[in-house]
Amino acid sequence: MIAQNDTRVRQSQQSRGTIRGQPTQTHQRMPFRQDLTQLEPSELAKALDPLGARPFHAQHIYQWFYKRNVTQFTAMTDLSHALRKRLEQTFTTPVPRVTKREKSSDGTVKFLMNLSSGHQVETVFIPNTPAMTLCISTQVGCAMQCSFCLTGKMGLLRNLTAGEIAGQVRLMAHDLELVNHRFNIVLMGMGEPLHNYDETMKALRILGADCGLGVGPRRITLSTVGVLPALERLAHEPLMPNLAVSLHATTEELRNRLVPVNRKYGLADLIAACRRFPIKRRERITFEYVLLRDVNDSMADANRLGSLLHDIRSKVNLIPLNEAPGLSYRRPSEQQIEKFARALTNRGLTVSVRKSRGRDIRAACGQLIVEGARPSPGQRAATLIDRL
Ligand code: SAH
Repeated sequence: MIAQNDTRVRQSQQSRGTIRGQPTQTHQRMPFRQDLTQLEPSELAKALDPLGARPFHAQHIYQWFYKRNVTQFTAMTDLSHALRKRLEQTFTTPVPRVTKREKSSDGTVKFLMNLSSGHQVETVFIPNTPAMTLCISTQVGCAMQCSFCLTGKMGLLRNLTAGEIAGQVRLMAHDLELVNHRFNIVLMGMGEPLHNYDETMKALRILGADCGLGVGPRRITLSTVGVLPALERLAHEPLMPNLAVSLHATTEELRNRLVPVNRKYGLADLIAACRRFPIKRRERITFEYVLLRDVNDSMADANRLGSLLHDIRSKVNLIPLNEAPGLSYRRPSEQQIEKFARALTNRGLTVSVRKSRGRDIRAACGQLIVEGARPSPGQRAATLIDRL
């Protein structure tokens, strides 16, 4: 399933005339124009060279794009007219556009964005988590088919490009006037980021550029079901985001049912990969665990979870299911959620329960992290139950 989709994406990149950002031969009369939103600052500087521009122009263009939200070359008024014209002849800028914005009574804002291909993606702003958090998508739909997730029901329509992933942040940050404020990014919208590895990592480099939005990797959390070869690659990235792993089950048998990719990359191997994962001092891997009534919420589940994670620097993020039509699972009672959380803290784990936000605008898909008060050194357990 994964290999097949990868091939399709490669083919579509070729048919757009770019392989790793390089123009390919084309017999059309129209000169090939490169997608500027796909270029990191150093790549942009190289691409500008044949136009007679200087490397600092790449920084200026990034500033216009990301700091000022200006994506039309004609409006980049500190560039000469001649250069602006050449830029227009050389590059395209296929940016997403916000088509709908819905605000929830709790301050959560859901954005619907149209891509140049006509597809749509959802992004969500969640205030006061306590940080400002932007939740963005990495794919249109998702191939992972987790049995309780609505996005999985769509199947994978296509991968987002790095420019489209970074573009979601640019649009939200400007719309919400966050550009000069600290905010966090979670890759917890639509899609599986490690199933679109290269574009996701490139997006993180684009977002991190100082001449752009300057969002460093420590303010970004990548959430994954555990596509193991990609997780191994991530372990060697110079630019490493925080890691959240969607675990959801404590036995191979149950995880095979809830998270079908487990049949290919099993729970035991995933836990072993997490154990090897190079986490920095004072940091931890977050394990997400969707709570499903009578499926994975028993005390036996809690005890097995405790045993699986006991020697990993981790925190557990319990996500009571967001029920939705079309899902055959139920959310456990508040009492059961609390009991499950307490069983984990009694075993010495750090636990938070994710509060469901933006429900009145259907922005809640388990996309919000409510961090518990950070435990002081030595104090390992913290429980935070948010009642709705
Ligand atoms: N593909 C990534 C990011 C997806 S969404 C991943 O799986 O980690 C982020 C989290 O929301 C995941 O843990 C996912 O399992 C969870 N989620 C999906 N559907 C949900 C639902 N109906 N209720 C609660 N959480 C859900």
